[in-house]
Amino acid sequence: MMTKFNLKGKVAIITGSSKGIGEAIARLLAENGATVVISSRKQEACDAVAEKFKADGLSAVAIACHVGNPDDRTALVEKTIEKLGGIDILVNNAGTNPVFGPVEEATDEIFDHIMNVNVKAPWDLANKSLESMKKRGGGSIINISSVEGELPEEGLGIYSTSKAALSMLTKSQAKEWGKFGIRVNAISPGLIKTKFSAALWTNQQIMQQIESSSPLGRMGNPEEIAYIALLLSSEAGSFITGSILVADGGFLLS
Ligand code: NAP
Repeated sequence: MMTKFNLKGKVAIITGSSKGIGEAIARLLAENGATVVISSRKQEACDAVAEKFKADGLSAVAIACHVGNPDDRTALVEKTIEKLGGIDILVNNAGTNPVFGPVEEATDEIFDHIMNVNVKAPWDLANKSLESMKKRGGGSIINISSVEGELPEEGLGIYSTSKAALSMLTKSQAKEWGKFGIRVNAISPGLIKTKFSAALWTNQQIMQQIESSSPLGRMGNPEEIAYIALLLSSEAGSFITGSILVADGGFLLS
């Protein structure tokens, strides 16, 4: 039964995989047979994760890419194809939220930066991977969205807007690319314990609110998101496309 999760022979790019949710996804896909491309802004950080994976008997290469930079995006796709022969799985995980505050106070520069990293980069990386996926007879694209894209919270308005756009991009790509055997889905995590969310989980008031009102009464960990990515990457998820899978411990119900 577990062979449906087997990714042997598959090549997976995971952006923002030097730590957090991206690293957990990369590890689980590699543990299930994929060759993974570890990618983040700093080559040394990518090298360190790839070396750690290889020491554990996993197959990994390191290619740095600031997803906000179009040349880096082109290089990530081209180098992956050159080194590994093609792309089967693309996980658009790298994301940003540099500000916390009222929507009207975000500058043009901040707005453009958030949209560039959270929406334009996933769109462009998917476009650039499309030909290779078509040649290989299909593929799986996973966009890491957020519950913030479903339910805005004060102070995170532009980030929420970008994640809502990413979820709709997911559905549009799924609709247009199903005919190529390419499935496109998003995962919307709730609060997950990583560096990115440290300002939230180190705030006692926020944690008390989550513990008292959310059904499971806790935040999640990166591995709980990785298992969903494994399902969506593999044959086990062969009929899932255009879905936004929420993993939030019930937060949206609270
Ligand atoms: P994290 O632990 O801070 O890790 C972020 C990763 O992305 C790191 O590898 C980082 O490495 C890389 N990165 C950051 N900016 C990048 C860029 N411009 N280009 C390429 N790589 C970049 O964050 P995380 O919590 O795992 O977040 C991953 C995704 O989950 C994000 O899209 C976030 O919006 C989403 N998410 C997180 C939560 C949560 O509670 N943690 C909830 C919902 C959604 P470098 O800094 O070395 O580049």
